[in-house]
Amino acid sequence: MKVRTRLTLLFTFLTATILFGFATVIYFSAKDTREEEFYILLEKEAVTKANLFLNAKVDTTTLQDIYRNNREILNEVEVAIFNADFDLSYHDAVDIDFVKESPEMLERISEEGLLRFYQQEWQVVGLKYWYEGKPYLLTAAALDHYGYSKLKDQLHTSIVVFILSVVLIYFFGRYFSRKAFEPVKEMTAKAKRISATNLDLRINSPGKDELSELANTFDEMLTRLENSFDAQRHFVSNISHELRTPLSAIIAELELSTNKERSIQEYKETIKNALGDSEKLVRLSNSLLDLAKASYDPSEIAFKNVRVDEILIDARQDVKRRNSDFKMNVFFESEFECDHQISVLGNEYLLKVAFSNLIENGCKFSADRKIDVFMDFDQSSIVIKFADKGIGIAEEDIARIFTPFFRGRNKQFADGNGIGLSLTHKIINLHKGTIAVNSTGATGTVFTVTLPHR
Ligand code: ADP
Repeated sequence: MKVRTRLTLLFTFLTATILFGFATVIYFSAKDTREEEFYILLEKEAVTKANLFLNAKVDTTTLQDIYRNNREILNEVEVAIFNADFDLSYHDAVDIDFVKESPEMLERISEEGLLRFYQQEWQVVGLKYWYEGKPYLLTAAALDHYGYSKLKDQLHTSIVVFILSVVLIYFFGRYFSRKAFEPVKEMTAKAKRISATNLDLRINSPGKDELSELANTFDEMLTRLENSFDAQRHFVSNISHELRTPLSAIIAELELSTNKERSIQEYKETIKNALGDSEKLVRLSNSLLDLAKASYDPSEIAFKNVRVDEILIDARQDVKRRNSDFKMNVFFESEFECDHQISVLGNEYLLKVAFSNLIENGCKFSADRKIDVFMDFDQSSIVIKFADKGIGIAEEDIARIFTPFFRGRNKQFADGNGIGLSLTHKIINLHKGTIAVNSTGATGTVFTVTLPHR
């Protein structure tokens, strides 16, 4: 069931319940009022007749005639008057005698002074009346035709009004819920038009209400998705570019050498160049593989307690194996007393890749091919600084150096593919650490990596 229909039905049900409660209270209060008012009327009639009979000495036949005549047109009250000995002194119509007063009933009237009860639908009152110091017992009974029919009318009107109101409320509810959900319908229609090929479309809701907030959040999510789609597209085109360049170079070299007879020296040169380009390709594919590993869900990567100094030494060895002229010195800024102080919960392989990248960058962008690594720790984390005295990074480049395939304007100084730092950044993030860079052309570059112990 649609939310709109559910809301309409709920609204109708709630209002109908309130209306029903309201009408019920009014009906029962009218019922009580009618009953009370009619008892009072009966009491007044009984007293009036007793006055006429006892005080004004109107004779029995005249009073009975009045009663019989009135009975034809009105709901005349049937009154009986008994003396203290329970003997009947007067009765409007002995032949009708609706109440059938028993001695027990008269006894109760005498004791209680006032008695009210129903006999079928007729209301009856019995009361004690004093005249010239003597008690009389009066009974008065009548059927409240007028009151009952008024009450019945009121009930019928209430039922009709209730049904009409519920129907009206339902249709108004439908109308208003349709109005309230119109923006949602619009948003759905707009959202349906958005697909992978037109991610630039937005819902653009100008209001300030909750729905506009939802639409804006959705738009923001689309912006993020669009950016990540764009990044993905760039990534793929960058990879193909990076792959094509060395491959084209290898093909060109080999084609050139097969065009005509060459000297041994020239062949050696060609093979050396082809080897160099192939190594670039291997490095690129290794970096891409590592990038894929670092992009895994952290729960899929094996983490264990590892000593950062040992990983640093391993990384240095790796770098040295590839570039024998690179030099690295490690300095411990604080003396460590236990393994825990220089350990983190991490993935040994990925951390080694990250450190190798930083060491290699520091050496390759420095004329002296040298980098100094400073290690320090505190209660919560380990801080490793990779400081070189190289050519530094241009200020405009600093914000982008962690973007995949980005190479700074100093790229002529050293070979590379622009993946190293983005991979390092990913790995450090995966270890819940941070990486910051500080660079000036004059004093070189310092990368500061902070890794939490756990
Ligand atoms: P690559 O080294 O393959 O070019 P990276 O992702 O490792 O790619 O680095 C991105 C860019 O950041 C480099 O091209 C370079 O411009 C700059 N960079 C990184 N480390 C240093 C450094 N230690 N000194 C100077 N520039 C650096």
